[in-house]
Amino acid sequence: MGRGSGYAQGDGPGMSEQGDGPNTRLVSGGRRKEWTAGLVNPPVHRASTILFDSVADLRAKSGKPRQLHYGRQGTPSIWSLEEALTGLEPGAAGTKLFPSGVAAITTALMAVLGPGDTLLMTDSVYAPTRHFCDDVLARLGVTTIYYDPIDGETLDRLMDAGAKAVFLESPGSLTMEVQDVPGIAARARERGTISLIDNTWATPLLFPAIGHGVDLSILACTKYVVGHSDAMMGSVTASPGTWDRL
Ligand SMILES: *Cc1c(COP(=O)(O)O)cnc(C)c1O
Repeated sequence: MGRGSGYAQGDGPGMSEQGDGPNTRLVSGGRRKEWTAGLVNPPVHRASTILFDSVADLRAKSGKPRQLHYGRQGTPSIWSLEEALTGLEPGAAGTKLFPSGVAAITTALMAVLGPGDTLLMTDSVYAPTRHFCDDVLARLGVTTIYYDPIDGETLDRLMDAGAKAVFLESPGSLTMEVQDVPGIAARARERGTISLIDNTWATPLLFPAIGHGVDLSILACTKYVVGHSDAMMGSVTASPGTWDRL
């Protein structure tokens, strides 16, 4: 992935300010010694219940980021991958992993939407995302309006009418329209509209979305990150303004 990206010298968009280029970050990201004890590849930690020395010790660690507290809240293997993915999105506050790409998409949407809200959704979106909007979000009282991914004027008018969130996918499934993501993200931010992108096709190597003004950047890790659908996994990387909400 990195070798063909053309950004091997760390000169890609939004990448030079952190020093290391994406290839270096790909091989070094998430490998913290305090999590791995120096093992090169972060080992797989499987956990649900964690043992503590005392109730005081449990309370001190509960709810704190990067503290083993309960398996569902994360283990060093999860933190390692989250940190490595965050490193590919300059300007991002953090990343959360999910059991599939669709779980990442639906959780990100539910993190920002509530009853009475309007969602602007690209018409070339991955079909299961569309099903979630038309079925689940509709039952929760969220209105979804589909927009033409390459008709910026109509999208501007829809955003002027007051949408809570705008969802992008670029290139889009399966017709590959490429959207003006920085332009749409900037206009959304001016209006207080939260922008989300399904960045699975481009990946953060070819398009670091957070650095281009998007609030939530979603990956179906099942695809390029896992490489071969050997595992199903999803991620959401958040801007500083949306991280707590996610
Ligand atoms: C595959 C895919 C997803 C869903 O990922 P799963 O891990 O299969 O749930 C979402 N968006 C895009 C663009 C995809 O190609």
